Amino acid sequence: MSQGAGANTPAPFVFAPMPNDPIAIVRSSAAFCVDLDGVLWEGNRLLPGAIEFLEQCHAAGQPVAFLTNTVSLSRRMLAGKFRRLGIPGTEEQIFSAGRAAGLYIQSREPGARVFVLGQAGTVEEMVSCGLTPVERDAGFVMIGVDRQATFDKLKAACREGLNGAELVAANPDRWFPEEDGPVPGAGCFKAFVEWCVGRQAPVFGKPDPAIFHHALRFLGHPPERVTMIGDNAEVDLGGSHAVGMRCILVEGAHPHPGLDQPDATCRDLSALLYLRSDATRLRHV
Ligand SMILES: [Mg+2]
Repeated sequence: MSQGAGANTPAPFVFAPMPNDPIAIVRSSAAFCVDLDGVLWEGNRLLPGAIEFLEQCHAAGQPVAFLTNTVSLSRRMLAGKFRRLGIPGTEEQIFSAGRAAGLYIQSREPGARVFVLGQAGTVEEMVSCGLTPVERDAGFVMIGVDRQATFDKLKAACREGLNGAELVAANPDRWFPEEDGPVPGAGCFKAFVEWCVGRQAPVFGKPDPAIFHHALRFLGHPPERVTMIGDNAEVDLGGSHAVGMRCILVEGAHPHPGLDQPDATCRDLSALLYLRSDATRLRHV
């Protein structure tokens, strides 16, 4: 009986798929969209490499837009937090879910009466979009994160919806990271109101494509040349891939069944530094 073919031949060499090199992606990107919570900071704690990475982008001529599902802080407040933490960035670079939702409502009905299920920062952003926050007889219910929410406030939001107000949600986030662990996100408030009212609230933060397109217009580059850096597989990865951008996820991001794989992963932003000497030098000029 002849030996089976190949008994003396080496097994075919199979190339294991190599994970993409995050540094190669960073170097070949024309610009970046950078998430805030879980990428630049956790609560009030700055994460490793955040400032140095942004200084590197500046030195390399790669513009940055900050793309965040934040709704509890206005863009003005976020810019203040940048200053407190020493993060180089301006209000004009920030694209927030609160702002995107406010601009949508303003486009539907300039000056609209809005019941805000959210905090002072959400109210401030609605006013900056030209809207009128009200306690009753609202045309819209704006759903964000409300740390002071009481049953009465949730009830009032639901009643506005039951009376016909249009529901608008900042984002679908289940939770967001803080120093002591996960905090329930706007998606939890969204689910509460939707269940009572029996209608869905459209989402205007990530992964809605519009907020990515606003940022891309600001950056002035086509999506295939821009890389999203985020920590949330559902909104950062799903949203950026849907518009044709690449995405690097920081480790600790929660994988989500059925979603794309990221183009690369990294421990934190310090793993994306390749102009170390320039970045260091820039900090001292
Ligand atoms: Mg995040």
